[in-house]
Amino acid sequence: MVLVAGGGGFIGGWLVRELLDRGFDRVRSVDIKPIAEWHQVHGAAENLVLDLRGIDDCRRAVVGTHYVFSLAADMGGMGFIEAHKADCMLSVLINTHLLLASRDAGVNRFFYSSSACIYNTEKQLDVDVTPLREEDAYPAVPEDGYGWEKLFSERMCRHFREDFGLETRVARLHNVYGPFGTYDGGREKAPAAICRKVIAAQMTGSGEIEIWGDGEQTRSFMYIDDCIKGMLDIMEHDIVEPINLGSSELVSINRLVDIVEEIAGVKLARRYNLGAPKGVRGRNSDNSLITQLLGWEPDIPLRTGLERTYASIRDEMAAVPTLG
Ligand code: NAD
Repeated sequence: MVLVAGGGGFIGGWLVRELLDRGFDRVRSVDIKPIAEWHQVHGAAENLVLDLRGIDDCRRAVVGTHYVFSLAADMGGMGFIEAHKADCMLSVLINTHLLLASRDAGVNRFFYSSSACIYNTEKQLDVDVTPLREEDAYPAVPEDGYGWEKLFSERMCRHFREDFGLETRVARLHNVYGPFGTYDGGREKAPAAICRKVIAAQMTGSGEIEIWGDGEQTRSFMYIDDCIKGMLDIMEHDIVEPINLGSSELVSINRLVDIVEEIAGVKLARRYNLGAPKGVRGRNSDNSLITQLLGWEPDIPLRTGLERTYASIRDEMAAVPTLG
């Protein structure tokens, strides 16, 4: 039995699908949201609504499981994590209780989805940033709130492995995007938000787009298929230290908007909101370690992934009934 905690979310939904496709016939997907709100629902999995902040629900979730993927978190894009630091840090309850329940149930292996937000923010001050290597996590100056919780939970995984013998694996995910992600409501991340804004500008004929910051901030974005393959590779491998899982194709937010405009066949006037949440100035993933140890590299170029994401959001937005 494989448990996907947070299976109603973006990455969890794709992970459940891949596990089923790979022939795992016993997959349990758990999320706090009502099933009607899950990004994807797979009938072949056992789908449970539980609140994993509590130890009793964690114990229920891990019954009979050999492998646990811990993806459940109260999180979102920069707009969410800058305004909900306490909520983000409360995800420590999920990770603490899931680790305890997994240890007690004799789980064979535990995967934790950490984040690039654990990296020292002082190493991310330029748009032309040096890609982050695993050792750049310390000295610890992570993203306030969300990043601290992730870094703490990484260390809990380490100590559960060292002290209790629970086999833990930790991937530091850099921005992940793709179809069936969140594109509105306040938790969305840049690629989905930009697709939504370009589509909305076309639908309303506004001819303009709001961009957070000056648009020169840089990031890398990993397509969901690459992420899922990398997570499973890391879970199967014997790498016990946290490892980067991300794209190293660095782009500015302005360039991201260019690409989405090209896909949509429009050119919009840009209105820069300099007071909006922006996060660090530049962030990229150094993939030397994962390439060397796993031979993993992202397959899907940004343009291709954005085409698929754009098409999926356009279809979802077109399906939303309007009052008119
Ligand atoms: P998501 O928000 O779509 O999925 C997380 C899921 O956890 C949600 O469906 C949510 O309802 C669920 N959840 C929250 N609290 C819960 C609780 N108490 N009990 C049970 N379920 C609960 O996010 P995602 O993009 O799929 O991210 C999955 C994981 O990967 C998260 O841990 C996130 O921090 C990490 N991560 C994601 C990215 C990214 O770019 N998407 C980057 C770095 C790290």
